[in-house]
Amino acid sequence: VKYVYDFTEGNKDLKDLLGGKGANLAEMTNLGLPVPPGFTITTEACKVYLDSGEEPAALRDEVSAHLAALEEQMGKKLGQPDNPLLVSVRSGAKFSMPGMMDTVLNIGLSDKSVQGLAEQAGDARFAWDSYRRLIQMFGKTVLGVDGELFEDALEAAKAAKKVTVDTELEAADLKKLVTRFKKIVRTEAGRDFPQEPREQMDLAVKAVFDSWNGDRAKLYRRQERIPGDLGTAVNVCSMVFGNLGPDSGTGVAFTRDPASGHQGVYGDYLQNAQGEDVVAGIRNTVPLAELEQIDKKSYDQLMQIMETLENHYKDLCDIEFTIERGQLWMLQTRVGKRTAGAAFRIATQLVDQGLIDETEALQRVTGAQLAQLMFPRFDEAAKVEKVGRGIAASPGAAVGKAVFDSYTAVKWSRSGEKVILVRRETNPDDLDGMIAAEGILTSRGGKTSHAAVVARGMGKTCVCGAEELEVDTKRRRMTVPGGHVVEEGDVISIDGSSGKVYLGEVPVVPSPVVEYFEGRMHAGADDADELVEAVHRIMAFADRKRRLRVRANADNAEDALRARRFGAQGIGLCRTEHMFLGDRREQVERLILADTQEEREESLKQLLPLQKKDFVELFEAMDGLPVTVRLLDPPLHEFLPDITELSVRVALAESRQESHENDLRLLQAVHRLHEQNPMLGLRGVRLGLVIPGLFTMQVRAIAEAAAERRNAKGDPRAEIMIPLVGTVQELEIVREEADQVIAEVEAATGVELKLAIGTMIELPRAALTAGQIAEAAEFFSFGTNDLTQTVWGFSRDDVEASFFTAYLEKGIFGVSPFETIDRDGVGSLVKAAAEAGRRTRPDLKLGVCGEHGGDPESVHFFHEVGLDYVSCSPFRIPVARLEAGRAAT
Ligand code: ADP
Ligand code: MG
Ligand code: MG
Repeated sequence: VKYVYDFTEGNKDLKDLLGGKGANLAEMTNLGLPVPPGFTITTEACKVYLDSGEEPAALRDEVSAHLAALEEQMGKKLGQPDNPLLVSVRSGAKFSMPGMMDTVLNIGLSDKSVQGLAEQAGDARFAWDSYRRLIQMFGKTVLGVDGELFEDALEAAKAAKKVTVDTELEAADLKKLVTRFKKIVRTEAGRDFPQEPREQMDLAVKAVFDSWNGDRAKLYRRQERIPGDLGTAVNVCSMVFGNLGPDSGTGVAFTRDPASGHQGVYGDYLQNAQGEDVVAGIRNTVPLAELEQIDKKSYDQLMQIMETLENHYKDLCDIEFTIERGQLWMLQTRVGKRTAGAAFRIATQLVDQGLIDETEALQRVTGAQLAQLMFPRFDEAAKVEKVGRGIAASPGAAVGKAVFDSYTAVKWSRSGEKVILVRRETNPDDLDGMIAAEGILTSRGGKTSHAAVVARGMGKTCVCGAEELEVDTKRRRMTVPGGHVVEEGDVISIDGSSGKVYLGEVPVVPSPVVEYFEGRMHAGADDADELVEAVHRIMAFADRKRRLRVRANADNAEDALRARRFGAQGIGLCRTEHMFLGDRREQVERLILADTQEEREESLKQLLPLQKKDFVELFEAMDGLPVTVRLLDPPLHEFLPDITELSVRVALAESRQESHENDLRLLQAVHRLHEQNPMLGLRGVRLGLVIPGLFTMQVRAIAEAAAERRNAKGDPRAEIMIPLVGTVQELEIVREEADQVIAEVEAATGVELKLAIGTMIELPRAALTAGQIAEAAEFFSFGTNDLTQTVWGFSRDDVEASFFTAYLEKGIFGVSPFETIDRDGVGSLVKAAAEAGRRTRPDLKLGVCGEHGGDPESVHFFHEVGLDYVSCSPFRIPVARLEAGRAAT
């Protein structure tokens, strides 16, 4: 195997091997862009090292060979005393992990070569500045020295000189600082800062490998569901210097606005600076547009390169560049992260520019992004107290109690509080707090600051760089203009779409995307929102592509109508138990308590017209579309009062010698119906078989409602669904009774009904005998919630609170199987049952209801196994439509 690739040897498709950074450095090199020469050590080498604790034997020689070639090309040797070649050692995994892995710049500097560099550059200040940076970065990331010690020493040096920014320190000051830094290294790391250049490089490479398993990297991977065994590549890149004076500098840029998608000049530039200075916010950056005044030639070249990159990657790119004495160098590019709104806009913009087609556009957006765009926003009309404005870094409307450190954010959010993490700026140590918070607010840093980048990646609301806010993390408070003090625990609201910060809780309103789906805002109108326009077009692409139909889970006409507006093609699950609540509860109680056949029939007779009315409304709302009505499913005790409450009531009445006959009967019934495992108890089809007349009453209500709609010239398409079937015999018995009732209603009304009868597949036995069950079922609807529960043997009402966190932490699964279908277990059962069912009955209709129907990854699975539709809650319908379209591309 080959462990080292020169930048000229790779390309952008080798991300697995070279990491994202290395692959794109190679791509830029081969595009003829000005990239400082260098080479990449592969992820394979990293994996060997992580597995065995040793670098692969061949690696050292390969690195030597590539280093020699680089030295030859550059005409100087690594760390050469009179004219040193310097390099950066940069991590770069397949997926970008902002700030997770650390880069060391200026490798090759030593007590000797710093002199040589000073002479070569004719600038001693620059040389000592580079050296102190090396010791600082190397000390922190390679030798594990607390970075604050260096920061403090730097602050002290500035204070001693009475200056505020690092550029005001002179060569002599920096030289002293180097001595100080070396002392810090010696005390803290118990060794001297290595003077041997190759040793510096080798140690840095190893440190990059090790950082793959750092806590922060692991946490980030878990969050982002990045596999833990990919490893990172290491890039060794010859240094170019942005800290060589005012005609040098470093910057970051986007080829278009990552928030709106608009084309233009977006980025930040910092003169006389190196590496992270731009994003670390040590000095104030200038907008990229100002570079035109500072260095027109480099600016024009940069614009040209940005255009080349967009046309080449056919997408928004972000870049890092450095200007060394008027010479532009490209240090990084990648397809840039963007907000959810920008993703939709950019996708349609690129289609209009002819760079991508509809199918590709669908790959550029996700259901998760769409879901994010459907979040509510702050009500602009509300009376609010705006206290600051920062940069709109990541959209959303977040309200919560202000907390000033990550620890408190985590602690409070665990106890159910909503918090906003307020920091001057964030760094990787704040990650847990950022995850726990509703939103993130910083007073420093721009669109490319750590807070902004990470929040965008997590889809979390973020306002950064709100400079009027004085954040004092030590005293846990923030002072807003005018002097008002926000203490820890005070509620604030932040708007990640506008950058505004408010005191107190601001009320929220629906997003324009929801208004659009609701039909209250129209695409194509003159004043239409650009975002709505883009969403409208992408949804049309998805609807054209998808094979899966999308239905809604809805129990009443109101939900049904909303679902229809959101694009539902029917109802996949109408839960009739919701029709047994409220003031009907009394009737249901009577039914449960009935001692005689007459009593039972009487209460069923009372319930019939109520049920029928519900169905008439529902069929009307869904006229012309299928409506799958599930017969009663939950255990009956759910309709009775709580056992403890009732016992207390009975005991009280007894002590007061009041009459309590009814309560006593109720209590007996509750005891009679009490089950240890109600979810595995008397429910679903079992109710229909044990309680005479219950299911037939429901079937009659459905049939009569359908007949009534038909007589009113409507087009009802009811389907009757039997829950929790485990064997075809259960279904046959219920079916026979149902068919008889339907025939009676047809005879009485003179309407031919053609009601389909089918079943849920939600028990392993049902799935395993699906071929037999299909004999008696015209459709299957996979109840993947119960199926997951019964296949895993997990109680879904308990596990999330009890041991799932431990399971997730141990990596037993990356995501709860109740959220995303477990392909290998539950999924394979679904697939097999679908196939067996279709063998028996080729026109068997197949669907899925339950949480998974609206989950992006699960939708792709259901598409793959050939189901006809997914059913999900009304608000998830657009997401399911989009993902069904994406699955079909
Ligand atoms: P990250 O992944 O955190 O962005 P990078 O490896 O890109 O880390 O490097 C950190 C900073 O150092 C970036 O600003 C980058 O542009 C700069 N940098 C990296 N290598 C060099 C180099 N060879 N010359 C000059 N600047 C460099
Ligand atoms: Mg970078
Ligand atoms: Mg169920």
